[in-house]
Amino acid sequence: RAKQEGRGQLRFYEALMGVQVRERRQIEHDLRHAIERGELRVVYQPQTRIDTGEAVGFEALLRWHHPERGTVPPDRFIPISEETGSILEIGEWVLRETCREAASWDNPLRIAVNVSAVQLHAPGFSELVHEVLFATGLPAARLELEITETALIRDLPRALATLRRVKAMGVRIAMDDFGTGYSSLSNLRAFPFDKIKIDSSFTRAVDSSEQAATIVRTVLGLGRGLGLPVLAEGVETTGELAFLGAEACQEAQGYLFGRPGPIDGFRHLTTGLPPVADTAA
Ligand code: C2E
Ligand code: MG
Ligand code: MG
Ligand code: MG
Repeated sequence: RAKQEGRGQLRFYEALMGVQVRERRQIEHDLRHAIERGELRVVYQPQTRIDTGEAVGFEALLRWHHPERGTVPPDRFIPISEETGSILEIGEWVLRETCREAASWDNPLRIAVNVSAVQLHAPGFSELVHEVLFATGLPAARLELEITETALIRDLPRALATLRRVKAMGVRIAMDDFGTGYSSLSNLRAFPFDKIKIDSSFTRAVDSSEQAATIVRTVLGLGRGLGLPVLAEGVETTGELAFLGAEACQEAQGYLFGRPGPIDGFRHLTTGLPPVADTAA
């Protein structure tokens, strides 16, 4: 009887696996056609200077509108596209699309684009960045590439060489999700970062957890010591913002300032305003 039950469970498990494998294959397959079918969209989320409340830029975040599945979140399809390699084509599309968009703004705000480990380590990445800047006319200083610590470790010397070439063009580099990856303080020193982004898991907890508050204060101290501005991700409440302001965090991003959305919803920021001092060409 126990054996029978065990076999039943095994079959159930196999069936479940079958469904998951099929779904994954389907996503892999559909992703290959997502660009040509126009199913990918970029949404934009403002990044704000805490002391003045001015928007200084936007982060570009990818969305996939699947005809049957609806909106597939990036955490669901980017890891798959990294495994299959389609992230190279998708990442290039995002870079070109966002640089073209940002080049059209009257207000020369920065645009931050997420770069996957696979893109960073692929041959020709720095040449691609150069070509896209040239083709779109976006000044290099207005582009910021967001890289996670985990993306560096695959091949540190190679990642360093690539980022140095990109940085030499005048492009800015931000360390994304700081504190969640294989954090190594030596990476922060060795790599040419211009900014640290504190992961939202810490920001979210500053009100309720003394430990999270301590971690955020420590990262801010680290930033000060290294001369790197710090942006706090995932700021949702005025309480979190007050804490960050009091601790002299430079920038913030989160639902409190705006949810990621189509750029047309942010035209009051991309047009009409005087240029922001530290982004003016
Ligand atoms: P990330 O780069 O750390 O992006 C921040 C994530 O936090 C975004 O999730 C954003 O929508 C979300 N977020 C922003 N403010 C708040 C807030 O106040 N509260 C909460 N709870 N969440 C907030 P999203 O858009 O789902 O993206 C998830 C991750 O997918 C990104 O994390 C990034 O690692 C990756 N990703 C997104 N777009 C791209 C892309 O074009 N290329 C690559 N390679 N990765 C991307
Ligand atoms: Mg990011
Ligand atoms: Mg992040
Ligand atoms: Mg993230």
